[in-house]
Amino acid sequence: MAQYFRNIYETIATVLIGMGVTFRHLFTKSVTLQYPREQRELPSGTRQKLFVNIDDCIGCLQCEKACPVSCITIETIKAEKDEDLGETSNGKKKRMYLTRFDIDMAKCCYCADCVFPCPTECIYMVPEFDFATYDRNDLVFRFSNLSDEKHKELIEREKAKEAAKQQPPEAN
Ligand code: SF4
Ligand code: SF4
Repeated sequence: MAQYFRNIYETIATVLIGMGVTFRHLFTKSVTLQYPREQRELPSGTRQKLFVNIDDCIGCLQCEKACPVSCITIETIKAEKDEDLGETSNGKKKRMYLTRFDIDMAKCCYCADCVFPCPTECIYMVPEFDFATYDRNDLVFRFSNLSDEKHKELIEREKAKEAAKQQPPEAN
């Protein structure tokens, strides 16, 4: 019989203690946010989406070599001697056409190893983390800004140079 009343007492006490906790929190400031409508400001240095300021890229491949998961793919074609590609904003001469500069963010492990070796500081993380998608192909970000025509022209030029190299030297 005593156990019976103890059970009733413990049940009521437990409910009252629980309700007390709930009641107290009615008057304290909420710590949750209505994401995505509200977003918390992330600390500086947070590792997020990568961005490449392609106008400052010299095609040195340092970032590609540093990446531990091979998610950066860069293809370059050297400019001819008489072609001036200009300079980067920190005064480095640009000598390479960037026919491809892709970053597969689906593979990226956000280590930032690609950021530090860049001599022109043109690859960096931007404050964007919410870029989930249904198709993983949409996570390959392409930064080359060459037009299709220019890209085609450069590829043709390289092929022609390659073919010329294969020709046997003319007999005297
Ligand atoms: S952050 Fe790391 S994994 Fe991602 S692209 Fe850069 S080096 Fe590769
Ligand atoms: S390290 Fe910098 S300059 Fe070199 S290829 Fe990568 S982004 Fe371009």
